[in-house]
Amino acid sequence: MSSEFTFVVEKTCPVCGKSVKVVKVKSRLAAIGVDNDYCCHYRDFNPYLYHIWVCDGCGFAADEKVFLTALSPVRRELIGNALMEHHVHFEFNEERSVPDGIASLKLAIFCAEVLKAPLARQAGLAMRLAWIYRIDGQKEKEREASEQALNLYIRSLETEHYPIDNLTDTMVMYLIGALYAELGERKKAVLYLSNIVGDKKNPITDAKLAKDARRLWQAVREQNQEESAQENASQEQNHHTVVQKAAAKPKKKSGLSRWF
Ligand SMILES: [Zn+2]
Repeated sequence: MSSEFTFVVEKTCPVCGKSVKVVKVKSRLAAIGVDNDYCCHYRDFNPYLYHIWVCDGCGFAADEKVFLTALSPVRRELIGNALMEHHVHFEFNEERSVPDGIASLKLAIFCAEVLKAPLARQAGLAMRLAWIYRIDGQKEKEREASEQALNLYIRSLETEHYPIDNLTDTMVMYLIGALYAELGERKKAVLYLSNIVGDKKNPITDAKLAKDARRLWQAVREQNQEESAQENASQEQNHHTVVQKAAAKPKKKSGLSRWF
């Protein structure tokens, strides 16, 4: 089976051992836009709906890498029992709707929690859930999932050893900055991004990340300055004396991307 963007393969569930159908996304997708937190936008297709593979036998859900990793008998029993207790059932469908995609990610987050997966990995799942909500225009739900991702990344940075799943601590620092910016907490965003752009002793070797961090750091700082200028202007207006001067201030154009 195959569609314009996806194709179906059979894999063995690492929990119940059943041979199950899973959907893979064809690799040649051209992005039409990328957000500061690396959420990619494509025309007429959302690959994040397919990020999670789900066993339609026992309900185990995980991304491809985790799904293809063998579990120890103890962990297999732990997750198998948890799924059975919750009567999890997920039907296979080659084409996933937005609710299907959301359900698969929530199920994967549940499985990751039961298996005590690294917090950085759990954060990545919450982030993808936020992206599905964002692409679907569900702003309040996106905010909730972004906050969940943010809290998990912060706890991860404090307690876990990197690299985790190809993620470095610098990359996580950037993602925390990008998430804070996304959530409108710009001062905190600047704080985290400053750790990356301001570290002259240990300049990061990832040139793209360094460039992205500097660009976002500048954009958020500009917006902070613009906001303080506006606050000052309104305070001055309240004092009547400098009304004309305040009104004549040119409005700075925001450097933030259109996704903000
Ligand atoms: Zn299974």
